Amino acid sequence: MSAKSYNPYQNAQAQFDHIAEMIGLEPEIRELLRQPMREYHFTIPVKMDDGSTKVFKGYRIHHNDARGPAKGGIRFHPEETEDTVRALSMWMTWKCAVVDIPLGGAKGGVVCDPRNLTEGEQERLCRGYVRQLAKVLGPFNDVPAPDVMTNAKHMLWMLDEFETIHGGRYPGVITGKPVGMGGSLGRTEATGFGVIYTLREALKEMGIDPKDTTASIQGFGNVAQHAAKMYQALGGKILAISCWDNIDKKAYTFVHKDGIDVEKMASITDTYGTIDKDKARAMGCEILDGEAWLEQDVDILIPAALENQITLANVGKISKKVKILLEGANGPTTPDADEVIKQRGIFLIPDFLANAGGVTCSYFEQVQCNMNYYWEKDEVLSKLDTKMTAAYKAVSQLARERNLYMRDAAYVISVSRVAQAVRMRGWV
Ligand code: NAD
Repeated sequence: MSAKSYNPYQNAQAQFDHIAEMIGLEPEIRELLRQPMREYHFTIPVKMDDGSTKVFKGYRIHHNDARGPAKGGIRFHPEETEDTVRALSMWMTWKCAVVDIPLGGAKGGVVCDPRNLTEGEQERLCRGYVRQLAKVLGPFNDVPAPDVMTNAKHMLWMLDEFETIHGGRYPGVITGKPVGMGGSLGRTEATGFGVIYTLREALKEMGIDPKDTTASIQGFGNVAQHAAKMYQALGGKILAISCWDNIDKKAYTFVHKDGIDVEKMASITDTYGTIDKDKARAMGCEILDGEAWLEQDVDILIPAALENQITLANVGKISKKVKILLEGANGPTTPDADEVIKQRGIFLIPDFLANAGGVTCSYFEQVQCNMNYYWEKDEVLSKLDTKMTAAYKAVSQLARERNLYMRDAAYVISVSRVAQAVRMRGWV
């Protein structure tokens, strides 16, 4: 799922080791936290529509559950690897800790391409995934959610399978469910909106009006589309958006010098976040190669597609005009490129802080399921804003006080909280 020379798990461990050293973490806690506590690797046989059976590889990995049940999304991707899932599970632990919600970190994945599976095959795959994990999942143990190429429909099939096996109704076992079926209003928008809540706070601190800024976004799926909508609502102008084209097997960047109308762009985008090239051209967009999003003369860059997108090989292409790198995706910047971002003084809002809105709203969904009482959308989004703003301010204050890079400040807060939970439980 990532550039061959970069292993996301090694990146996640390198980031952790750096912080463990910085805060003088005890050796036992370092050993515990630099790797997942539990891993499940399994096969999922699925009856295909043509009568054949195909076997898919699945993973569920718990990095740490000292602060609460393990929480994290499930990805469907043809290039999924166990190391990507390991890294993502680790980042989930830090993400839940930075927004201070009582959950641990997990992640799941299936090596598959849902774009090439029929609806029935996808349903059987979802049900097969849950059958392999029937004893592992549970509202108090492990709570999945959607991620790359999975959505509310997949979550409901998974929930239904879990409830069929366990003979009861357990809406709190999975989040990101459809509204009306135990889902929370605002969950679809939560990650992208949360990304922009952190940006709004950063711009406030810098004394910059969002109306005076421009941005370029990589990706146009769930996170990117909602981030783009909220950014535009604040008055910002998006000059470029890139996405993956699964037919051409390459990425493209869509550029409009007067600014892209996000709603219009969303209306010509499929459910996998691929923009229709002809219709975009008709909207006046110029179509450039996939990496062009990174080279635009904008104030804000928002990688919101996949990990390992800003590397040592392309970080030099970032324009001198760029003031903020706002990481919507998980792990979009490799450690060597991160060093360059730091040296250049580009203000970073790190991934596990910026995109924590999704898991925060998932937590709200669990709370609502437990109460069996659902909040209005405004209430959900206002609670989300409060949590995201508080988390951003805590990180930025620590960064200023101790002259830390924003990523390091976020890590110091998260790792300290998780380490404290481990100590209080008497695990070490
Ligand atoms: P998605 O599947 O909805 O969208 C992914 C987008 O990235 C699509 O538009 C796709 O075309 C594009 N893309 C893929 N490869 C690309 C490439 N090489 N160049 C340009 N564009 C490319 O996924 P999503 O849910 O929006 O997730 C995006 C990122 O955000 C992932 O890193 C995910 O782990 C992270 N994230 C998602 C959530 C969530 O709630 N969905 C929460 C936290 C973090």
